[in-house]
Amino acid sequence: MGTLEGKIALVTGGTGGIGTAICQRLAADGARIVTTYMNQEKAEKWQADQDFESTIIRCDVGSYEDCERLREQIESELGHVDLIVNNAGITRDGSFKKMNADKWSQVIATNLDSVFNVTHQFANGMAERGHGRIVNISSINGQKGQFGQTNYSAAKAGLHGFSMALAQEVARKGVTVNTVSPGYIATEMVMAVPEEIRDKIIAQIPVGRLGKPEEIAALVAFLCSDEGGFITGANLAANGGQHMH
Ligand code: NDP
Repeated sequence: MGTLEGKIALVTGGTGGIGTAICQRLAADGARIVTTYMNQEKAEKWQADQDFESTIIRCDVGSYEDCERLREQIESELGHVDLIVNNAGITRDGSFKKMNADKWSQVIATNLDSVFNVTHQFANGMAERGHGRIVNISSINGQKGQFGQTNYSAAKAGLHGFSMALAQEVARKGVTVNTVSPGYIATEMVMAVPEEIRDKIIAQIPVGRLGKPEEIAALVAFLCSDEGGFITGANLAANGGQHMH
C-alpha cells in the first residue's frame, strides 16, 4: 500500500514535463490525481497516456474565478483536496530594457497569483480536517536571480515568501507548506536547447548532469507523506549543487 493511499492530490500544470512526473509518482504512492489544463488537445492525449485514473479540469490558475470553479467541481466530484502541488508555470523572458507590462503581468499571474488563487480554495478545509500538504514549485532562478528573468525571478522568489507566511498560520492544524526549487531539469523544453548551449549549462552544475523530473517528484512525494510532517516553511533546493544557499 502506498504512503498516500486515499489522499486526493491536486497538481496544477500536471500535463507538463515536471508535472507529469509528479502526478505519476503521487499516483504510484496511492493518491487520486486531479490536474488542470489550458490546452484541451494536449490534456486529452496526456490523460489517455497515463496508466492511472485522473480528473482533469480546465482552469487558468491565474484567474481567481476559474479557481473557484475548480474548487466547486472537485467538491462535487471528489469531496476535498488533501495535497496541493502548485506547479503550473510559464516563462516570458526578456532583458529588463525589453521587459514589457504584458510579459510582467502574465508571469506574475500564472506563477505567483496562481498560488494564492488555488491555495485559497482549499487551505481552510485542510486546516479544519487537521491535515494537509502544500508544495510550491519555485526555481533556482528565484533564489539567485537570472539575466532576462526579472518577472520570473520575482514571482518565484515571492512564492517562497508565501510558503513561509502560510506555513506559520497553519502549522498547528497539521498542514505543512513548503517550496521546492529545482535547478535545470531534463524536460522537453531544456532538451530542445542546442546541445552546445546545454553543455555550457551542465558545466555549471557540480554533479555534472541535468536533473530528472522523477527526482523532483520524489522530493515532492516525501514532503506530501506523513514522514514529511516536521518539514514546513522550508525551501528545498534540487539543483545538483549549482546554487548553494
Ligand atoms: P511545462 O512548460 O512543461 O509545463 C507547464 C504546465 O503548466 C503545463 O501543464 C501547462 O498547461 C500549465 N500551465 C501553464 N499556464 C497555465 C495556466 N495559466 N493555468 C493552468 N495551467 C497552466 O513546465 P515544466 O514542467 O518545465 O515546469 C513546471 C514547473 O517547474 C514550473 O513552475 C517551472 O517554472 C518550474 N521549473 C522548471 C524547471 C525546468 O528545468 N523545467 C526548472 C525550475 C523550475 P498547458 O500546456 O495546458 O498550458
